[in-house]
Amino acid sequence: MSITNELLNTVLRHAGQEVSRKEFLNLAGRGLAVGVAAGTLASCHSGGGKAAEATAGTPTTGTPAAEVDASTTYTAPGGQTVASSEAVSPPAKVPAEVSQPIELEAWKSDVDPQSGPVPTPLPPEQRVGYALVGLGHLTLEELLPAFGECKKSKPVALVSGSPEKLKKVARQYGIKPESCYSYQDYEKLKDNAEVQAIYIVLPNSLHAEYVIRGASTGKHILCEKPMANSAQECELMIAACKKANVKLMIAYRIQYEPYNRQVRDMVRSRKFGPPKYIEAQNSQSSANPAHWRHKKALAGGGALPDIGLYCLNTSRFLLGTEPTEVFAYSYSTPGHPLFKEVEEMMSWQMRFPDGVIVNCVTHYNTHDSRFYRVSAERGWLHLDNAYAYQGQRLQTSHAEGPAKMQNQITIPTKNQFAAEMDHFSECILENKPPHTPGEEGLQDQRIMEAIYQSAREGRPVKLPAVPGTDVFRGPEPKPA
Ligand code: NDP
Repeated sequence: MSITNELLNTVLRHAGQEVSRKEFLNLAGRGLAVGVAAGTLASCHSGGGKAAEATAGTPTTGTPAAEVDASTTYTAPGGQTVASSEAVSPPAKVPAEVSQPIELEAWKSDVDPQSGPVPTPLPPEQRVGYALVGLGHLTLEELLPAFGECKKSKPVALVSGSPEKLKKVARQYGIKPESCYSYQDYEKLKDNAEVQAIYIVLPNSLHAEYVIRGASTGKHILCEKPMANSAQECELMIAACKKANVKLMIAYRIQYEPYNRQVRDMVRSRKFGPPKYIEAQNSQSSANPAHWRHKKALAGGGALPDIGLYCLNTSRFLLGTEPTEVFAYSYSTPGHPLFKEVEEMMSWQMRFPDGVIVNCVTHYNTHDSRFYRVSAERGWLHLDNAYAYQGQRLQTSHAEGPAKMQNQITIPTKNQFAAEMDHFSECILENKPPHTPGEEGLQDQRIMEAIYQSAREGRPVKLPAVPGTDVFRGPEPKPA
């Protein structure tokens, strides 16, 4: 069909108010319709009609259900007739600006949860182009697929030690062969104008080198957690990015995940009074002694920097304040092939200002368990699967008179990797600091070093007092 229904609707509203759509088509034929449509479009261009309506904020397109011919029929190729109705576009506001959401015709009552505005993806040529460094589990299983849900980010280059992976993954995601690089050619990213950001997804021991080398190309850097294997490396990474005048963000996806943000808001607004105690666990079962996660030089440690870090970073995020003391206990089963170099388990307590206690445990040798509970004066919030990629379940409990109210809160889920990458893109596009900058990663590294020291020495270790809230974080991300 050369004439779309939408165009016909527009024509009908402007030129054929007294005739039905069917009559109009019969009488005028397509040729006439095209002529009328052209006139209508011309009048839109000249600033009349629809343009004036758009300025006034009235619907800019669409046919109300009352005007739809609901009694048409369709004759199938076999000759059978089926009841049908007129296919039209219902009323909608369509702002011309791509960043403004289309407003569709409402139909839900406010008794039920409201859906958010429709997504406003940037046109592909306006999105921030990423080079992904390291094609392992996280990149292939989560990050590359998550770009499909991004609105401001797109993958444009790959860096890998495997030419076979480069070739295959580039084909799968539409990346040009000339935008695929070896580790030796990493600095050639400098000359790739499509690349604005580099995402480091390598084993922990390589983060420092690849952030520093990446900064020298003038591209902005998103680096996986843990930021590095020592606070000293973190400081060098921050300095290199500052010197090169590029942004550095640490990929703390939880701080962009809707359920964790909901708990943070409820804790900070004192929904159930002041928080008193957090219990947090992030545990899983690992295998393969040859994997880098079980080599101290490559991983920096065991369960703590890999998954225990989520308990640490998320508690800091929920409370906004910084711990003043840690006390830790670590264990590795003697002779266990996986835990010759790195810890199997770390259990630690953190003391926060105002007497808030945070108890954490992380384990590499139990069935997967990822939750926390924030106990506040007048209620608690429990987030199951808190640190998982999906499946968060939020429960709260409080008293109302004689009743104990236990609620399950559901909110729309969002891909947290997409939200995190889009936040970094937003920072690049709007030239603002990231919510989770290098300083946030450095603070975690300092606390982890105190945790290891405490476990080694069997005594509490004090941390320098950091007054204020969100001291190491940048501005809030915009809603995903
Ligand atoms: P993988 O082992 O699956 O992948 C790492 C990739 O790094 C390899 O596939 C390889 O890519 C590259 N690499 C370069 N040098 C080495 C080396 N010496 N040994 C092994 N790999 C090397 O790791 P993950 O993807 O699970 O983890 C990567 C990073 O992401 C880590 O820092 C980890 O902490 C973090 N992570 C974060 C998660 C999150 O939820 N935010 C979840 C999982 C991991 P290639 O073959 O292309 O050369």
